[in-house]
Amino acid sequence: MACKTYIVEHLDDELGPWSELEYLTIAKESHQAGAKFCLSSVPSTLVLPAALKHVPGFTADERSVETLYAEDRTRVCLLDPSAKKELSPEDGDTFDVFLFGGILGDDPPRDRTSELRKKGFEGRRLGPKQMTTDTAVRVARLVVQEKIPLDNIPYVDYPELRINKNESTVMPFRYVKGENGESIMPEGMLDLIKKDSEKDFGDLF
Ligand code: SAM
Repeated sequence: MACKTYIVEHLDDELGPWSELEYLTIAKESHQAGAKFCLSSVPSTLVLPAALKHVPGFTADERSVETLYAEDRTRVCLLDPSAKKELSPEDGDTFDVFLFGGILGDDPPRDRTSELRKKGFEGRRLGPKQMTTDTAVRVARLVVQEKIPLDNIPYVDYPELRINKNESTVMPFRYVKGENGESIMPEGMLDLIKKDSEKDFGDLF
């Protein structure tokens, strides 16, 4: 089977700092795992961060995934929180392209993945809980490349992050548990969450 491609279809107009950190992490981890990472539907007006553009194996495309794979749609598996079937290691033998929504997580989830579901790709679920996009790619990679069944992956659900000595915030997502027992997050994400939470807290006054 050909080397795996992870495609994130960018569904927002902008590319904010959260998405930037998520995409950079996906690009680096995909490269380390011998896979490709493509960001599709990138508006021509959007300036991509230099750090992202320079990761080997990363490509950006203005076209959307249904144009890119018009001739061979059966290669593409959409990771869809509403799919009936869970992703399994055998799916790595059936599909070589894995498609994700480039959407920031929201609580409650707004099901913007439906924009991709409408395009008719075969769908698979990664369990019942909402993951961040970089976590969803990480989990899919562990299943289809490392052949680890979904239920054998260690997770951390809804971690509570300490912002400062008075406040903490609960992330409403499932993450993969790292070797240190903490949730795996993009480098710099914790600082960004703290900065944003302090800003929100400051806005109350
Ligand atoms: N609330 C979101 C929505 O509007 O659909 C979920 C977005 S999630 C942050 C970003 C992407 O990660 C989804 O579009 C999907 O491709 C993937 N994803 C996240 N959790 C998933 C799950 N449990 N099963 C399958 N895919 C998932």
